[in-house]
Amino acid sequence: MKVLVNAGPWLQVPPPGYGGIENVVATLVPALRERGVRVVLASVGDSTLEVDELISVFDTGQFADLQKPYNQVMGIALAHQTRVARELSGRDDVDLVHDHLEVVGPAVLAALDGPPVLHTLHWDLRKHPAFYGDFPGAISVNGVSESQLGRAPEALRKASLGAIHLATPLAERDLRPERGEHLLVMGRVCRLKGQHVAARICQKLGLPLVLAGPVSGLNTLAELDVVAQDPYHALHTHPDVRYHLDVVSPYLDGDLVRWVGGVGGQERDELYASSRAALFPIQWDEPGGTAVVEALALGVPPVGLRRGCLPELVDHGRTGFLADTEEELAEWLLRVDEIDPEECRREARRRFSPSVMADRYLELYERAIGRRRSR
Ligand code: UDP
Repeated sequence: MKVLVNAGPWLQVPPPGYGGIENVVATLVPALRERGVRVVLASVGDSTLEVDELISVFDTGQFADLQKPYNQVMGIALAHQTRVARELSGRDDVDLVHDHLEVVGPAVLAALDGPPVLHTLHWDLRKHPAFYGDFPGAISVNGVSESQLGRAPEALRKASLGAIHLATPLAERDLRPERGEHLLVMGRVCRLKGQHVAARICQKLGLPLVLAGPVSGLNTLAELDVVAQDPYHALHTHPDVRYHLDVVSPYLDGDLVRWVGGVGGQERDELYASSRAALFPIQWDEPGGTAVVEALALGVPPVGLRRGCLPELVDHGRTGFLADTEEELAEWLLRVDEIDPEECRREARRRFSPSVMADRYLELYERAIGRRRSR
């Protein structure tokens, strides 16, 4: 089978640091290739993932531009997807397209008489109601958790072949650095991820907390400072930048609560694996939760609010703790050493390994192909 996997134009694959969708693609593709699938990757030119072919419009990731006004950036995703469509109309050796590009993916490919397509939806499905509310049932999609699909408009649920949980290569590695004292929030710094709640709790309890993750694409204090000092900078009023500067920064005392910026590679894995617990004080219904799955794989118990996909990923009391309120979250945090790290690792190997995800996607590929044939 030959599959064109479309990762979009935003970041290279694998991403050097933050990158939810690109991480998923980087996790899935090697496992598919181990199973004999040939992969054409549509991404940016400096992607380093080993594939059979790479196609791209942009030399490098366009993520930074995503923060600019719509009328300046609307062409990026369309240029990328038009290239994908042109590629598909010029060849007949692709059996299936596995698309990960939000809205523009299905919008462009629906008009093409090409191979069957499976669109994986990684985001909050209450977004784009005009588009998803009138979604054609014949287009195959899948979600990344049951709870995410449960909140989707009826039309989109009809098109859905089900949910496949996210996975991480860490589930197949055995990383065991010495455990530190710090708790960790790993993720984009934004209100939805709730870094301020984590900081408030840890400050109250006197527990060391590390916040890791970029702010609107900014990875260091120096980069953030440039934006903070310049009221005319395009990002100065960006909600995530304001959130960091106005809401999170007051908690950063350089000692108990620290922001270390965006981290990647070995540094990220070690910071993660040496944490006492990973905190998820989420202020939204998290659709997929890559970071939750990564924590489990590293034997780091997730402690979070009972929302979104968290109850599907974390078994309260066995592989982590889930709370309904901030106060309860603080109480569970004090009991985190009761969770057996081995139980977390076993769970991740059983449910969130690349092999498990690849086998499930192969099933969906067959179903998407069969669905097309029956039409
Ligand atoms: N991540 C990273 N470095 C950082 C912050 C995050 O490598 O500094 C990774 C994190 O480990 C996860 C992904 O980026 O693999 C974020 O995925 P998640 O689903 O948690 O967040 P979202 O896609 O909603 O931003």
